[in-house]
Amino acid sequence: MRRLRRLSLHLLQPAAPPAPGDQLALAACAGGRARRVEGGADVAAALAAYLRGRHRATQMRLFDFFRARPDLQTPVELATAAHRELCYRQLCALVREAGVRPLTLMDSDPAEYFAVMEAAGGADISLGVKLGVQYSLWGGSVINLGTKKHRDKYFDGIDNLDYPGCFAMTELHHGSNVQALQTTATFDPVTDEFIINTPNDGAIKWWIGNAAVHGKFATVFARLILPLQGKGGEPADMGIHAFIVPTRDHETHAILPGIEINDCGHKIGLNGVDNGALRFRSVRIPRDNLLNRFGDVSRDGKYTSSLPTINKRFAATLGELVGGRVGIAYCSVGVLKVAVTIAVRYALLRHQFGPPKQPEISVLDYQSHQNKLMPMLASSYAFHFATVMLVDKYSEMKKTNDEDLIADVHVLSSGLKAYITSYTAKSISICREACGGHGYAAVNRFGALRNDHDIFQTFEGDNTVLLQQVAGDLLKQYQEKFKGGTLSVTWNYLRDSMGTYLAQPNPVTARWEGEDHLRDPNFQLDAFRYRTSRLLHSVAARLQKHSKTLGSFGAWNRCLNHLLTLAESHIESVILAKFIESVKSCPDEKTREALKLVCDLYALDRIWKDIGTYRNVDYVAPNKAKAIHKLTDYLSYQVRLVARELIDAFDLPDLIIRAPIGMQSEAYAQYTQYVGF
Ligand SMILES: Cc1cc2nc3c(=O)[nH]c(=O)nc-3n(C[C@H](O)[C@H](O)[C@H](O)COP(=O)(O)OP(=O)(O)OC[C@H]3O[C@@H](n4cnc5c(N)ncnc54)[C@H](O)[C@@H]3O)c2cc1C
Repeated sequence: MRRLRRLSLHLLQPAAPPAPGDQLALAACAGGRARRVEGGADVAAALAAYLRGRHRATQMRLFDFFRARPDLQTPVELATAAHRELCYRQLCALVREAGVRPLTLMDSDPAEYFAVMEAAGGADISLGVKLGVQYSLWGGSVINLGTKKHRDKYFDGIDNLDYPGCFAMTELHHGSNVQALQTTATFDPVTDEFIINTPNDGAIKWWIGNAAVHGKFATVFARLILPLQGKGGEPADMGIHAFIVPTRDHETHAILPGIEINDCGHKIGLNGVDNGALRFRSVRIPRDNLLNRFGDVSRDGKYTSSLPTINKRFAATLGELVGGRVGIAYCSVGVLKVAVTIAVRYALLRHQFGPPKQPEISVLDYQSHQNKLMPMLASSYAFHFATVMLVDKYSEMKKTNDEDLIADVHVLSSGLKAYITSYTAKSISICREACGGHGYAAVNRFGALRNDHDIFQTFEGDNTVLLQQVAGDLLKQYQEKFKGGTLSVTWNYLRDSMGTYLAQPNPVTARWEGEDHLRDPNFQLDAFRYRTSRLLHSVAARLQKHSKTLGSFGAWNRCLNHLLTLAESHIESVILAKFIESVKSCPDEKTREALKLVCDLYALDRIWKDIGTYRNVDYVAPNKAKAIHKLTDYLSYQVRLVARELIDAFDLPDLIIRAPIGMQSEAYAQYTQYVGF
């Protein structure tokens, strides 16, 4: 079988000459020869229908809206001030002309809200982020951390953009470590007000989106101080709370007294968003402006909360903000799809070199190019299904408030956000390089995609910090297991797996190398889960050992790389499990076959990339490792044969792709036209 396969590879490559004038069509469909994938268009359409969520109609309506409004389309070159104004006009148009009500959607149908956010980000990533700041962050903080009185007062104004606002958490000295924020909100029982103060320059609120130009309000995160209520009549620090602080006059837009706002200036990307820095000097706000869902202060200055400790209140407060992370993970997949679409379409179109005295071949017929782009295409599919699952879980969580689901979504959103945004960031650079010199032209988008998306790795939680939360939760679950406790939904596999995986790998299966075995989802999932369980078990033992001498913080730091690998491994398992399930549930047979191929590539490529780990523990014998490598290359080649269909199934309109070299047709013509020919 192996020899046959090799022979068939030989026979199918390289490509035959495309007929003049039909280069695009041939290149896009050629499987080496100038032959089309039989029923390719049908597969693409069926796949698109399967991928397309119930929110596609809304997205299409928004794309049509922008298509009909050239004045709202972001040009390739734009100065910062003009970009900010355009971005605000885009958002206003979306709300006031296209009639979208993002906060209402976020409240009633979060999945639809994320679809709107993704579509807005497709028009311009700055717009997606500006929308996220206004609705997920400013709006989300008011409705999730506040109570009825806040909802009654602010909901409509936020929704219709009468109340543009910001989310002011980060300070100059502290971003990730939110518990160390220093801004204070001291209660004044005489006037029934809080006094907001920036005690030193390190506490200046920094990077605050929407603050530099457009925002009129901010949700300010500050330490709640109650005078005379601490030990010995000292002020009592009740921990971090959120407060609504008006920053600009509603009519004149003038900055309000006691507030200083400066512009964070031109950034590497996302220049449609106006990030600002805020300093407060004894700014007084009514007591009612405390977002009091998890803690309140009475008229006589007494603190009440249904949660017993500062840590619990802090966790509950941050827990309400996971929606932002869900949105970032979801939109990052959208960015990845755009980058992969441009790179794959261009690779199909581009011909360079070929056998002696024969026409040149498509660069996607080079094994190296397949190796760069096909696993990435497979990952886009894998992430698509994983983030749809995340959004569904989030929506369910909002409806039911189920505690297990809350814990699950918290960790899953951290892990998927970190894993996917890091992957997308790296992939955009690979796509740029895969398009050679033309990938460097700004009009072909990679510069903007890379620069605008880059910060997805940092905001809404730095990826390295978020992965540690995943690892921390896995360890908690691991300890629970040994105490006989239950495991939360996504980790269920650990319950079954731990016993099996801690035994030595089976020396017989370690040698199995048949294609059927390697493409069996049970083998693939087992391999992913084996690795996670082993990493979990070994890091738990190391932490226990080191904490005796280094203490828990030192031990954690000593094992940090191990912990990050564990978190990534777990997230990969979750993504694969969802992908396998999505293949199984696909109703159409041909579509299912195409998806299965892509899923196999995703799984085997990941196993191959970490083959050292599997070899080290003899989970995979040398012959099997070799077979995995070969099959991965072969699957990349197979996926290449349907690459055009797989890309078309993303169903991204030209308005979203925009790069001339990524157009479905006339790519070179559009490119030369852009340059002025
Ligand atoms: C364009 C932009 C928009 C933003 N918008 C907003 C906004 O609207 N509102 C808002 O409040 N904030 C906003 N932010 C701030 C953003 O949320 C923070 O930058 C982010 O949370 C990271 O914090 P930091 O910058 O302090 O990084 P740091 O926490 O200082 O991290 C610096 C480095 O140290 C590493 N590190 C930190 N802690 C650990 C650890 N425990 N273990 C291992 N490594 C660690 C990180 O991985 C990172 O590489 C924005 C930032 C930018 C750039």
